[in-house]
Amino acid sequence: MSTPVREIELVWHDLVPRLLTVVRAERITPRMARITLTGDDLDTFAYAAPEDHVKVFFPEPGAELPVMPTIGPEGFEPPGPGTPQPIFRDYTVRYVRREQREIDIDFALHGHGPGASWAGAARPGQRIGVLGPRGSYLNPLTFDWYLVAGDETALPALGAWLEQLPAGVPVYAFAEVADAAEEQDLAISPDTVLTWLRRDAGQSLGAALADFRAPDGAGYVWVAGEATALKPIRRRLRALGLPREHVEVDGYWKRGTVNLDHHDVDE
Ligand SMILES: Cc1cc2nc3c(=O)[nH]c(=O)nc-3n(C[C@H](O)[C@H](O)[C@H](O)COP(=O)(O)OP(=O)(O)OC[C@H]3O[C@@H](n4cnc5c(N)ncnc54)[C@H](O)[C@@H]3O)c2cc1C
Repeated sequence: MSTPVREIELVWHDLVPRLLTVVRAERITPRMARITLTGDDLDTFAYAAPEDHVKVFFPEPGAELPVMPTIGPEGFEPPGPGTPQPIFRDYTVRYVRREQREIDIDFALHGHGPGASWAGAARPGQRIGVLGPRGSYLNPLTFDWYLVAGDETALPALGAWLEQLPAGVPVYAFAEVADAAEEQDLAISPDTVLTWLRRDAGQSLGAALADFRAPDGAGYVWVAGEATALKPIRRRLRALGLPREHVEVDGYWKRGTVNLDHHDVDE
């Protein structure tokens, strides 16, 4: 029997900036806003993998339109001094409905920052900018088991992982949220064991993953969340002995820091 291909392929997409309009703003839990956006050119929106994300450009408080990105030969070029500065943050694409020209983005309402503040007050008709996705990591979905885990900011990608992973493959999923009210109704296969971890009950990803024992066979691990909390988790998961490229542990935000490029907070 031949060994299945287990390479993660990165495919690049044309980097398209879009000015989009809010069609719906709803609360899927008390502290998670789902914002549905529309725009004429969303029928060509690139989306291929659960982690696909965009840079979202927000208007200054009181302004109608965001400062949009400038795209140069190397991609997004932050403007020089003296020109209006765009306000942007990274967000995962939760759903794409190309025929309806709609995408959904889920925003964690954590109480500070332009992203959470804008999403908490978003109304139909308002406009924001969206750039990307720049690329997609294509997982061949041929692994014997998967471990997927994260906090609120990772829930959009985690939800997509759980929907896109094939049935019949064991999936161990851990989601850390503030309390029971933040648990979302995620679609899972019968082979998925999803564990909600509630911070108000003293539970955490760190403690849950410290006890994780890797099953036999080739596994793939994807974890995202707060960068500092992920450090011991990354060490622990790398010690499972899986190939390094099969253990993806990604800092999505850093407590007390405004970070515009998550690759800076990863390791
Ligand atoms: C690839 C990628 C995908 C992401 N996808 C999503 C997504 O789909 N949904 C989502 O909600 N977030 C997502 N994030 C995380 C999001 O980009 C950050 O949380 C970002 O800081 C939010 O911007 P802000 O303007 O709300 O806060 P900022 O202005 O960036 O930060 C203000 C303050 O709030 C703190 N802070 C930031 N985020 C949180 C939080 N979640 N909880 C508590 N305090 C926080 C910061 O440490 C800082 O002190 C993603 C990040 C990456 C890198």
